Amino acid sequence: IGDASPVNNKVIAELRGVSKRFGDVLAASDLDLSIAEGEFLSFLGPSGCGKTTALRMLAGFEVPTEGEVLLDGKVVNDLDAYHRPVNMVFQQYALFPHMTVAQNIGYGLRQVRPRLPKAHIAEKVSKALDVVQLNGFDDRKIWEMSGGQQQRVALARAIVNEPKLLLLDEPMAALDRKLRKEMQIELQNLQRKLGITFVLVTHDQEEALSMSDRICVMRDGRIVQIGSPQELYDQPNSRYVAGFVGTSNFFEGKITDQDGTLTSVLLDNGLTMQGKPVGQLVKSQQVCVSVRPEQMKLRREGEGLNVVVRNRIFLGEHTEYLVMHDSLGEFLVLSPRQSEPDNGPFNAGEDLLVSWESSAALILDNT
Ligand code: ATP
Repeated sequence: IGDASPVNNKVIAELRGVSKRFGDVLAASDLDLSIAEGEFLSFLGPSGCGKTTALRMLAGFEVPTEGEVLLDGKVVNDLDAYHRPVNMVFQQYALFPHMTVAQNIGYGLRQVRPRLPKAHIAEKVSKALDVVQLNGFDDRKIWEMSGGQQQRVALARAIVNEPKLLLLDEPMAALDRKLRKEMQIELQNLQRKLGITFVLVTHDQEEALSMSDRICVMRDGRIVQIGSPQELYDQPNSRYVAGFVGTSNFFEGKITDQDGTLTSVLLDNGLTMQGKPVGQLVKSQQVCVSVRPEQMKLRREGEGLNVVVRNRIFLGEHTEYLVMHDSLGEFLVLSPRQSEPDNGPFNAGEDLLVSWESSAALILDNT
């Protein structure tokens, strides 16, 4: 499933064989993971796959049913959230609307260190406001702030006591698309500036791909693959990961031949395709051939499978075509603008030829 341990850096947090059961539901199952100091790691997966549960066990809001959670090399299963060097930013920022910005940020600090002198608190609050670029907003009420500003206040509150680990549970879910993008960049800058380890939960692949050093893809409570965004995109270990990280075309069939570096698959529709096998696959196994839309090339003349263009979406640098093949059905081709012929993009209804390198096709476990 990939490298569960980060390269180099000191390990700051660890899950060892961690499972969490809620009655009949196994929310997290046998999680093994090491998180490095200064790393930006994301848990990615659909709703209900156990991302939040994993995060809450790191935070100390849930106790594992089995296994160990370690922070800084020490088992912390029984240490409550307030005594862990960890902070969490929630989807709904959980700010106090009637308090000012400064009071909200100082609140957490006072909870953890009640005897901290006032001047000290003010200094730390001011520094945190600096980091999230909200200087001068100290005395504003929360309800006077925009969504994006509230998000920043929540971040400031989470970093004010300098946690070693910052946990983010879909922190941008409440923001619109444009603001989300801006906050993604800001969050990355913030992480570099502070050197804090960030662990993010998201179901948004774009968010995970653009921000993370490593992504942990989850399914049904399990980690199915861990890797850098590029590794997951280029070498997904299953159909599930290929479909969740980026877009791919899948053609189902059975392995007929495993010769050299390429494997042949007899597709359910009778065609034969070749590709690079990923992982342990055996003859007759039910698999799928996965080809990324940008690996496919469309032409008016030459070699290839006969397709007809069903739909065209102009995306600026690229054009996305939905094409139809008699046996394969519909699939997507992403065509860079410069590779389109001089007389412009292909048209809906046009008969074309599509081809790709066999080495660009991955043969994946079909689960
Ligand atoms: P989402 O993106 O929707 O938040 P998730 O991937 O974070 O989903 P979890 O919230 O970790 O998923 O939930 C995993 C599973 O555990 C789900 O089936 C959920 O219903 C169940 N679960 C989570 N918390 C509890 C709880 N406190 N009591 C009972 N079941 C729970």
